[in-house]
Amino acid sequence: MNKLLSYLKRAYNLGRKSSQPVVFSNPGFCYSCNQTSQFTAKNNWLRDHYLCDRCGSIPRERAIMYCIEKFYPDWREKVIHESSPVFRGTSLRLKNEAKNYLPTQFFPGVERGVVHRGFRNEDLEQLTFADESIDLHVSQDVFEHIFDPAQAFREIARTLKPGGAHIFTTPLVNKTSPTQWCARLGPNGAIEHLIDPPEYHGNPVSAEGSLVTVHWGFDIQKFIHDACGLFTEMVYIDALELGIRAEYIEVLVTRK
Ligand SMILES: [Zn+2]
Repeated sequence: MNKLLSYLKRAYNLGRKSSQPVVFSNPGFCYSCNQTSQFTAKNNWLRDHYLCDRCGSIPRERAIMYCIEKFYPDWREKVIHESSPVFRGTSLRLKNEAKNYLPTQFFPGVERGVVHRGFRNEDLEQLTFADESIDLHVSQDVFEHIFDPAQAFREIARTLKPGGAHIFTTPLVNKTSPTQWCARLGPNGAIEHLIDPPEYHGNPVSAEGSLVTVHWGFDIQKFIHDACGLFTEMVYIDALELGIRAEYIEVLVTRK
């Protein structure tokens, strides 16, 4: 586990001192670590560089925790499943404070539902959780990496308790245009790339990174409804006093 944590820190460039000049900095309240802090950016791309001085969280992490607090203030008592967490900021807070927090990672080729490298192995397209067993599914920048997100949304809906929700972020990079598919699985299981070059993001449990399968557009709420029949609210927060300002930090709340 310690090995994995040190890998995560390296992979996500945590804890490194930077000599870059400060773009801006302001005090405020961080929902990720639940205390007053200073938020500092040393790069204009605030989505990845506007950090809480205390917990190292980035804006989307603070935005999703704000939504969890506001919409589900009793979250500490809930059964919370988080897919593919990186243990800093919000995920760390959920892990430390929620009574029933289930972090999972997806290890392709490993039996589903078993513990592997310290994590329960769960494939969002075929979860091993029972029907109506989860209060809150949480995912942060996971749904742009799934080959069959419609099936994943159906699995989320199946396993949510009535009254529960999927609270998540995924970059809506096509926010003014329709969703665009970037990669898919062909009939023989081979990956077909639909954009050139293919796009990859960092993956805490894979050195190769995660392939981006979809550039989500403004139509994501309709996509989710068509897939699983649930409605989704989109929350956009711009609040410097909470350290929440950046591109692509919409929080989606799909309620059952
Ligand atoms: Zn913080």
